[in-house]
Amino acid sequence: MDDHRDASVDPAGPAEAAPAHGPSYDAGPPRPSAATGVPGTTSDDGTSGGEAGEVRRFWGRLGLPGLVDVHTHFMPEQVLRKVWNYFDTTGPLLGGLEWPITYRKEEAERAALLREFGVRAFTAMLYPHKPGMARWLNGWAVEFARRTPDCLHTATLYPEPGVETYVREAVEAGARVFKAHVQVGAYDPADELLQQAWGVLAEARIPVVIHCGSGPAPGKYTGPEPIARVLARHPRLRLIVAHLGMPEYEEFLGLAERYDQVRLDTTMAFTDFTEGFMPFPRRALPRLAALGDRVLLGSDFPNIPYSYVHQLHALERLGLGQEWLRAVCHDNAATLFGL
Ligand SMILES: [Zn+2]
Repeated sequence: MDDHRDASVDPAGPAEAAPAHGPSYDAGPPRPSAATGVPGTTSDDGTSGGEAGEVRRFWGRLGLPGLVDVHTHFMPEQVLRKVWNYFDTTGPLLGGLEWPITYRKEEAERAALLREFGVRAFTAMLYPHKPGMARWLNGWAVEFARRTPDCLHTATLYPEPGVETYVREAVEAGARVFKAHVQVGAYDPADELLQQAWGVLAEARIPVVIHCGSGPAPGKYTGPEPIARVLARHPRLRLIVAHLGMPEYEEFLGLAERYDQVRLDTTMAFTDFTEGFMPFPRRALPRLAALGDRVLLGSDFPNIPYSYVHQLHALERLGLGQEWLRAVCHDNAATLFGL
């Protein structure tokens, strides 16, 4: 699978990152007009302005002041281009899925669109696929957070010498959330090299959005078992299991039931796209309802093969009620991040 395990620490490494956005399922041949050419990606009148209206009506109906989206991707431009290219060529981590990216726009346009949607706070999910890259990404993220006040300052990590030091530095620089990608990084999250860093994050009570489920394609260390080993050592670590842990939904719900600091994000779950190949088991809906205070809205914007509003409608049609939706789409994250 491409060069994900290329361990060379090349000064130009970050700029040459060839990573994939893993899990977020991605993939798909180039579609030049993806932003407007994908069925279901535009609103009634076929404009993004129209879609913004739909999104605003969604949270307006719930009586919310807006949305908080804990899973959006912003990263250095050259890295994002490589990620998009990976999606376009259906890289091996995508499970063979076609993945036309709906919001393939310039950075400023992407941030502006989230504001049009009424997303009060979002994140800059970025992640390394090899050693020597995380610190550089974290440096970029400091600058991005500085120029993007509605972005929750995001940082990342990788099992490598020095990780504890740069995680501490990121915390001191004001990072409010971390991203870890077990599938793309192809590492064991319980790796000894990460133990001190997890301890720092647990103590600082900083949430970590972690892609650790085996969707869209499994990795050597994906699935609930390695994460269970991390939590056994760091039971207070605030892990946010990305994508609701798909396809191991029930096992990850079990971890959240066992550890009260474990949360889950909704990213891509319940959408027509995902239900087509990794459906959420209906029998687990009562457990999802019962964890309503620990489920957080995530979208994977901009790297999604459908419209933003579709994720919201997919949550609504679960039929778990307005109180659940208010908590998931805004209140839980507002509380967690003190917004
Ligand atoms: Zn993602």
